[in-house]
Amino acid sequence: MTVAVDTYKKETCRYCDEHLPEPFLELGAMPLANSFLTKQQLSEDEFACPLSLTFCPKCFLVQLSHVVPPDMMFRHYLYVSSTTKTFHEHFGQYAKEVREKLSDVECPLAVDIGSNDGLLVSSYQDQEMRALGVDPAENLAEEANRKGIITINKYFDAEVVTEIKKEFGVAHAISGNNVFAHIDDVQSVCKNVVDLLADDGLFVIEFPYLVTMLDDLVFDMIYHEHLSYISVTALQFLYDRYGLDICDIKQVASHGGSLRVYAQKKGGPYTKEAIVDELKNKEKERGCFSLETYKTFSNQVNQIKSDLLQFINEAKAEGKTVAGYGAPAKSGTIINFCELTQDQVTYIVDDNPLKQNHFSPGAQVPIVSSTYLNDNPPDVLIIFAWNFAKEIISKIDHLREKGVKFVVPLPKPQLI
Ligand SMILES: [Zn+2]
Repeated sequence: MTVAVDTYKKETCRYCDEHLPEPFLELGAMPLANSFLTKQQLSEDEFACPLSLTFCPKCFLVQLSHVVPPDMMFRHYLYVSSTTKTFHEHFGQYAKEVREKLSDVECPLAVDIGSNDGLLVSSYQDQEMRALGVDPAENLAEEANRKGIITINKYFDAEVVTEIKKEFGVAHAISGNNVFAHIDDVQSVCKNVVDLLADDGLFVIEFPYLVTMLDDLVFDMIYHEHLSYISVTALQFLYDRYGLDICDIKQVASHGGSLRVYAQKKGGPYTKEAIVDELKNKEKERGCFSLETYKTFSNQVNQIKSDLLQFINEAKAEGKTVAGYGAPAKSGTIINFCELTQDQVTYIVDDNPLKQNHFSPGAQVPIVSSTYLNDNPPDVLIIFAWNFAKEIISKIDHLREKGVKFVVPLPKPQLI
């Protein structure tokens, strides 16, 4: 693999501009998590960039040390949120919660940043809100617009804010789900959000929680798209600089444990709920502000690699076949960090047709449909999309009768 020249090493913190120290965890040079390969591309050089985490000693933000240009990751995006039932329910509930908080506002406007194929925007519409999305992925924006979900096919920048204000007015809700942690220049985003947000509006973001990653050792949430590993404390540090205050937080199950954080303009109408300080205290107790905590995490992650390799190699030595289920971004981190190959994992099943008939980034394992799995059941099936394990197993439980053993990879290989 070749390291592309247009990636860059981050010298200063994304949130507070402090000089960043050397990484505490290095996962190696990795391809982009969603750059699935066609058969023709297998013989070509593949893009790769170091995947390493560093820790800001001033605002305590954990972040990637190298940044890949966003156009490489987000202009054509394979992750379609509508493909999973779990997300349908999740965003339905999400829109309902936002609408309830805005119950005093008549016909509120909601703007979803990184709206993907428009699932949340359409959930807002179900709650009788005016709603639109902004997403840089041409394929997804086009699909959303075709379905009648207004989607501006751009990055969320000052120009887009002017366009929205002119056509629709100020926004009462601005949301960004699994997008705020993906943006390099979040300071500009904060500035633009404040510009677009009504004085009684809410800025809502959802992201996988740093403490979940530390507690459950789910290091597979580390990949190039995911630039920041956010704590409430670090986020408030950033928000302080832009006149935003966190007023409520919901703990949600997505990605093994995420936070939905509500913020308002300083002096806004919402009461600050007790959970905000509770979580900040929890972060302090968990050692989120100390480099030692991250060094321990790094050792644990390296131990997981040894355990998983040992598990797979033992299965192979017994003549068993091993396959995977789910090729989300996170699977690439596990597979490539553990340096697995097609010799160890024969194929990976994924229900997203855009990924099928392709090969996984880096390891080049073929991605197949569940029909293939039914016709060629392995002895061991590793559920790489472990956060959807329940939904996946309900679909393929009949394979147990054929002797297939289901395994989740983290925090250590376990039969389920
Ligand atoms: Zn910082």
